[in-house]
Amino acid sequence: MKTVVASPLLSVAINPVPSRAAVPREEIPAQQAKLRERRAPDIAVTQTEEGQSVAYDAFTWQRRELAKRLPLDEPWPAEKDIEATLARFDLDKPPVSEVLPAPSRVAPDVYLVASKTNHAYLIDAGPAGLVLVDPGPETNVEVILANVESLGFARTDIKWVINTHAHFDHSMADAQFQRLGAKILVGEADVGAVEKGTLVTAKYVLPPDEQKSYPTLEVDWPVDDGEELRLGDKTILAIATPDHTDGSTCYVLQAGGRTVLFGGDTILFDYRLGAQGTPFADNERYGASLKKLATLGLNPKSSIRWDILLPGHGTIVLNRAYLDVSKGMRQVQLDLSDGIPVNALPFGNLYYRQMMFGRPVAAR
Ligand SMILES: [Zn+2]
Repeated sequence: MKTVVASPLLSVAINPVPSRAAVPREEIPAQQAKLRERRAPDIAVTQTEEGQSVAYDAFTWQRRELAKRLPLDEPWPAEKDIEATLARFDLDKPPVSEVLPAPSRVAPDVYLVASKTNHAYLIDAGPAGLVLVDPGPETNVEVILANVESLGFARTDIKWVINTHAHFDHSMADAQFQRLGAKILVGEADVGAVEKGTLVTAKYVLPPDEQKSYPTLEVDWPVDDGEELRLGDKTILAIATPDHTDGSTCYVLQAGGRTVLFGGDTILFDYRLGAQGTPFADNERYGASLKKLATLGLNPKSSIRWDILLPGHGTIVLNRAYLDVSKGMRQVQLDLSDGIPVNALPFGNLYYRQMMFGRPVAAR
């Protein structure tokens, strides 16, 4: 079974497309527009065994494929030794890159603008400006600004920054965008973490100097559960989803008739979960939040049916994202009832390996 398909439809959907230009489109010299097109990265669009269209990152692709092939009686390799095992199964040269191409369009009016440490997304909210979701660490700033400009916007068009949570790899660059004129929005319960640079930001994993100089700021807009954020010509629904952090929040956008879920580290692709190993994460509350998301997506009276999942890290999901929401909920429920830690990465779990082993191998 051929499981990797380059779908022309999806290539169109997620290839970089310059949008609202800072100068009217007709004033951009044709050659310049062409150059921009030529710089556009190709993105590998892959169909999963369950028929989902996803943009894989290499890390995820390699480990999923390894789970299909590594005999169950062999132990899963430690991460530091995994390269040799990947090479043994001819998985050391993945067909996709570690960092997803940016800028790329991932939904109508939504672009991926950074992908190295986390995924930062840009929403075109019309003439009033741009919304940036999770700027990430400070090392992202120049990358994001360059991508914003390559899409034809100005850096000062970024009017709002919305954060899925206060971890440094999602929000540490907030202060720099605030200085450029953006309003900073953070889930109510994570406001203190960003304003004081507390340990909730998980800054303790940074080098000592960077911890000391954590760029704190005053949050402009604490976000409530169920709040409808009217930002330019977009309405974004905020759903409080503790407890990767206390104030973890998912954001929902209707785009082109489909529901887009900005999942942060609360919900990711295919059993990947938030890193719940911090002292500030609560697994019971986390499980309840995933149930809340799944229930919202299944309510026939609701307009929400999870289609597109734009997570904080890893593989991006372009259709049938309700599968990932259900998987996340189920996995946390199983871990809770088994009394075991919630594991952010599923690949080495026996449960996951038993399910994946022997599945069709992706074509190269
Ligand atoms: Zn996080």
